[in-house]
Amino acid sequence: MSEGRLIVLSGPSGVGKDTVLHALFSREPRLRYSISYTTRPPRPGEVDGVSYTFVDEQTFRRLEEEGEFLETAVVHGNHYGTSKRRVEAMLARGDHVILKIDVQGAAAVRERLPEAIFIFLLPPSLEVLRQRLRDRGTDDDDAIARRDADAVREMAEAERYDHHVVNDSVEDAVGRILDIVEASCGANAG
Ligand code: 5GP
Repeated sequence: MSEGRLIVLSGPSGVGKDTVLHALFSREPRLRYSISYTTRPPRPGEVDGVSYTFVDEQTFRRLEEEGEFLETAVVHGNHYGTSKRRVEAMLARGDHVILKIDVQGAAAVRERLPEAIFIFLLPPSLEVLRQRLRDRGTDDDDAIARRDADAVREMAEAERYDHHVVNDSVEDAVGRILDIVEASCGANAG
């Protein structure tokens, strides 16, 4: 069986990555999601082992020392890391694996696995993004301000990505992502 492809999806906070991913997985169940580790506390409704594996900082550092991570980054003041073991196991099974990671993590993956497919999700405009961040209601004012500043910085990194998808409508964004994966994988993705 041929190895699956690694797909890196980045985009600023509030752009709608989770919504797009959710719709993507319902349309294409053969895509797999790599659950990251984070030291961020769970938001209401987030389940350990589903959204993330939630760990304390000491555990995160131990895992890092043990070589568990393909990449790590500090995002909005919290540690995040992609499990190398989980990703490799899924790729070896022939599954295509999606990482929802920030621009620093994507840069690290680009160094190690340049054959991955790099997609940046863009908001229709910065104004729309700011409104979505405020509307989300899951973060306090400080967190929103930090995410807003990080978002502007992240947008500047978009040009390093091979593919850009504007999240104007979730359905269209999902369609464009599937087209990119299919074009990059040939018969494998279809
Ligand atoms: P959130 O805390 O809102 O779920 O995610 C915040 C940011 O962290 C998002 O930009 C997301 O892409 C990024 N992120 C989530 N998991 C990882 C990871 O494993 N590695 C890196 N580098 N970034 C991640």
